[in-house]
Amino acid sequence: MDRAVIDHRGPDFAAMTAEIAEGLGIVFQTAGPVIVFPASGSGGWEAALVNTLSPGDRVLAFDQGFFAGGWVAVAERHGLRVQTIAHDWRRGVDPAALEEALGADAGHEIRGLLVVHNETSTGVTSDIGAVRAALDGAGHPALLMIDAVSSLGSIDYRHDEWRVDVTVTGSQKGLMLPPGLSFNAISEKALAASRSAGLARSYWSWEAMLAANEQGFFPYTPATTILYGLRESLAMLREEGLDNVFARHGRLAAACRRAVEAWGLETYAVEESEASNTLTAVLMPDGHDADRLREIILERFDMSLGTGLGKLKGKAFRIGHLGAFNELMLAGTLCGVEMGLGAAGVPFTPGGVQAALEMLGA
Ligand code: PLP
Repeated sequence: MDRAVIDHRGPDFAAMTAEIAEGLGIVFQTAGPVIVFPASGSGGWEAALVNTLSPGDRVLAFDQGFFAGGWVAVAERHGLRVQTIAHDWRRGVDPAALEEALGADAGHEIRGLLVVHNETSTGVTSDIGAVRAALDGAGHPALLMIDAVSSLGSIDYRHDEWRVDVTVTGSQKGLMLPPGLSFNAISEKALAASRSAGLARSYWSWEAMLAANEQGFFPYTPATTILYGLRESLAMLREEGLDNVFARHGRLAAACRRAVEAWGLETYAVEESEASNTLTAVLMPDGHDADRLREIILERFDMSLGTGLGKLKGKAFRIGHLGAFNELMLAGTLCGVEMGLGAAGVPFTPGGVQAALEMLGA
C-alpha cells in the first residue's frame, strides 16, 4: 500500500477496479455488483438504507447487540419507523420470532429487515440461511439487509444463495486492511428498489457509483492506497481458498473457546454452534472489572483486548481472532490473557493455554 497514488482516471486504475470487482464477487459469493465507498462500515449501513427506502418506511430489526442497535439508530435518524424484536443477546436471531413478526404484517408494510450476521459486541453469529427461510416461509417481500462487517472473508457468507438484498461490510476485519473502505453488495431487487426510493442521497448514491464503476472509475476521489491493499487481500483469500480460510477461523476459534473453558470462565455465546469464529467475548466473574483486566494486559504485555460494549461494559472482554491470524498468534494472545488473569487477581484455573495448544497440535 505504501506506493505512489496513480491517476484515478487513468488506464492502470481501471484495470485495478476490474480486478477488485472480480475478487469481491468471489468473497461475497455474488455475481452482482459490489460497491466500494471510501468510508467506515457505518457509511455502508447508511448507504444500504438511503438507497432502498423512503421516509416513514417500516423496518424490522432484532435487539441483537451494540452494533445492531447502531444500525437501528441510523435508520431512525433517517425517519424510518423501526420495529425491534426483543432478543437475548447471547443467542443468534430466532427465525420463528421473525416469521411471526412478518406474519403479523399482512399488508406488507415492512420494507426492510436488518440483521447482523456476526455481532461483534457479543461474539454471537446468526444463521442467515434460516433468516432467508423465515422470510420465504412468511411469503414476505421485505428487503433483506445484512451487516457482515465482522464475518465477511472469515465466516462462510453467501450473498446470492441466501438472496440477500444488501450486504454491508468494512475493510478492517476479514479483509485484513486498515479502516477506510465500506462495501454494499446489492441484488437486482435492491437495485430496482433504489430507482423509486425516496430518501435523499448524494455521496452514497449507488447510481452514480455503478455508472462510474462500469468504466473502471469512481464518481469522486477513491481511497487509492487502500484499494491497492484490497487487491492484495482479495488475492490472499483466493490463494488460501475460501473454504480453507473459513476452516482456519473455525479451528482457531474452537481452540480459543477451549482455553476459556479450561480457565473456568464463560463465553458470552451460550450455544457452541452460534459462537463466533472471528471473536470470543468472555464474561468476567462477578466483582471483577473487565476493563481493569484489559488495562493490566495492555500495560504489562502490550496487548489490546476488545472492551465490553453497551450493556457488557466492564462485564466482558473480547478476544479477536480473525483475518491474517494463525496458530502462533492465537497462542501468544492466550498467553497474554492467562498471565493477565493472574496479574489482575481474577479467580481462574491455570492451563487454558495448554488446553488450546493440545487442540491446535492434535
Ligand atoms: N457492524 C459491526 C458488526 C461492527 O463490528 C462494526 C464495527 O466494528 C460496525 C458495524 C461499524 O463499523 P465502523 O466502525 O467501521 O463504522
